[in-house]
Amino acid sequence: MDKAYITVDGSMGEGGGQVLRASLALSMALGKPFHMTHIRANRPKPGMKRQHLTCVSAAKAVSKATVTGDEINSTEISFIPESVQGGEYTFRIGTGGSITMVLQAIVPPLLMTKESSKITVIGGTHVPCAPPFEFTQQTLFPQLERLGPRISARMEKVGYMDIGGGSATVEISPASQLVPFQSEDHGDFTGATAIIYGHNLPEGITEREAGILLSEKFAALGLTRDTLRFKDGSDDADKTDLPVGGGNAVIVTLHHEKAANVFGEIGWRGRSAEVVASYACKRALEFLFSGAPIERHLADQLLVPMALAGGGSFVTKGVSLHTKTCLAVVEKFTHLKSTITQEKGKAVRITLQ
Ligand code: ATP
Repeated sequence: MDKAYITVDGSMGEGGGQVLRASLALSMALGKPFHMTHIRANRPKPGMKRQHLTCVSAAKAVSKATVTGDEINSTEISFIPESVQGGEYTFRIGTGGSITMVLQAIVPPLLMTKESSKITVIGGTHVPCAPPFEFTQQTLFPQLERLGPRISARMEKVGYMDIGGGSATVEISPASQLVPFQSEDHGDFTGATAIIYGHNLPEGITEREAGILLSEKFAALGLTRDTLRFKDGSDDADKTDLPVGGGNAVIVTLHHEKAANVFGEIGWRGRSAEVVASYACKRALEFLFSGAPIERHLADQLLVPMALAGGGSFVTKGVSLHTKTCLAVVEKFTHLKSTITQEKGKAVRITLQ
């Protein structure tokens, strides 16, 4: 293997798709080729599935890369980027694979191109183990804007895990130079809102979920009938197209003066409505009383853009394996080093410099 390649063992840390997405983003933005082996080795069915392959083909299109090994189930890939170019792109996953995961791979390098970008991705908007659309739109992107660029996102159509077919579009006005990330306190809590998605479900599921959101147990969130919306095709004001097939998701959003934090849970056959809604509420409550401004999922998703901005620092609660994995990938591609120091309670400060 040519010495100029960075070699990445895909089984490191989480050993999932994140190692691949983080490597693609860093490789494109920094113009550093990489060779990866053991892709998704820690997953029950290793190798690249449709979502991961779409990340690679999207990265290839955006950076005019030369790629080998980009096949379904492949566990090894070589990626040589040329130059990243903004513009209009559409990428189709072809399954319910996650749209926001594809964005995770290609948005970071597009924050610093000369041209603006408009990216449409077709696939799943609300699927398990991935950021729901609202998280990327309302939690991640506003934090990335603090690096300098402007980013907006809209969802044209919901896509669930079985069939996908959802659509989301992101527009990016890049910044000529990204500024290092410093998290700040998110200000006072101003209230919560929630959305319950439900299409083609057995009767009663979304109402049972609403019952949990409004229950005494989660009263501290302050949700009411007025702050709860149903996206089930019943609302004429809802401009999103009806999805193909069916699915369910509960999205709870906590609004603070300076940030919105989204907690999404996906429903599937065999997972009760009560469990789906309670998990979303529990995670939101935990965050509300944690005193750490950067939520666990946001933490790992901030690291690659933050590295491209030259580093920065934030306070979060604990360090997830996804975060450790991203830090390890960042340290492979850059000269940045991470430090983790204890703050008050169980909070920690992660610094990249
Ligand atoms: P696989 O490991 O099967 O390849 P994957 O490619 O789907 O899975 P992971 O490597 O597990 O992905 O990465 C999951 C990503 O999704 C992480 O960035 C994590 O923070 C994010 N994520 C998962 N659930 C949520 C959620 N509810 N809200 C926000 N982000 C989430």
